[in-house]
Amino acid sequence: MHWTALDSLRYVEIGKGEKAFGPGSLPEKVKMRLEVGPDTLWVAGQELENSARVNAWMDSISQKKFVTKNTIGKSREGRNLNLLSIGDTDSKNMIMIISRQHPPEVTGYLTMKSFVETLSSNTKLAKKFRKEFTIYVVPLMNPDGVDNGFWRHNTGGIDLNRDWANFNQPETSAVKDFMEGMVEKTQGKFYFGIDFHSTWDDIYYTVDPELHGNMPNLVSTWLDGLKKRIEGYDPNIKPNGDLVPTTVSRNYFFVKHGAEALVFEVGDNTPRDFLKEKAEKGAEALMEIMLERIKDIP
Ligand SMILES: [Zn+2]
Repeated sequence: MHWTALDSLRYVEIGKGEKAFGPGSLPEKVKMRLEVGPDTLWVAGQELENSARVNAWMDSISQKKFVTKNTIGKSREGRNLNLLSIGDTDSKNMIMIISRQHPPEVTGYLTMKSFVETLSSNTKLAKKFRKEFTIYVVPLMNPDGVDNGFWRHNTGGIDLNRDWANFNQPETSAVKDFMEGMVEKTQGKFYFGIDFHSTWDDIYYTVDPELHGNMPNLVSTWLDGLKKRIEGYDPNIKPNGDLVPTTVSRNYFFVKHGAEALVFEVGDNTPRDFLKEKAEKGAEALMEIMLERIKDIP
């Protein structure tokens, strides 16, 4: 499926709010002019990336001999919670990537996809990285919400990114059990954890850099690296030191595992080629820094 943004000359916003961001900025209605023909024309606020499409992407990337796709649990409606393992699953050095806790946050998902593709690429850097670190990815945390078109919740009516202290939901507890199981099995550590979301603009919600996990200041060094690689890019970074109760995934990754962690919020309207550039350059910077830093860890 090929998606294109509707030309601004082809729609009129009626009753537009006064605010620059947020619900107060939205129009009451929109009038669109569309060319229709015998072929199906899909109209959507964001690219439709439902569970079938996400699974197709996971199947295609699992064609690589160092990538496997497994099921780590089931949603309330019985959809599989699928995980990609990239690299040697006996490795003690691990990183965790998740996305789509919130169903409509498609740009976060697209960024995660390019990020993971870069980590699994055939570059010298990526190959070297996969010798040291194994990457675990749950691209679709809330498959029921995505397929049912829920705004923020899962089928249990819960915002999954408020369930990382109590783990009452099958989706969050599957990831918890998986991560804690891997630590027990390998006697290793998660060094990095990232959760991709979307909002009005690109924002990085980090952990207060005064607080140190398994690779102190990895995230701030990484974001500096990203800034240097993209001309004129000034990342909007919002650190937070209030981590207990863990409640959100970032806090669980950091507090329970010592993984240097962040929430990466991507703008809903960020141009898709810029999403890709940030994901690719971000993944490259991360690999370089982590390879350098792992040398100091006994
Ligand atoms: Zn979100």
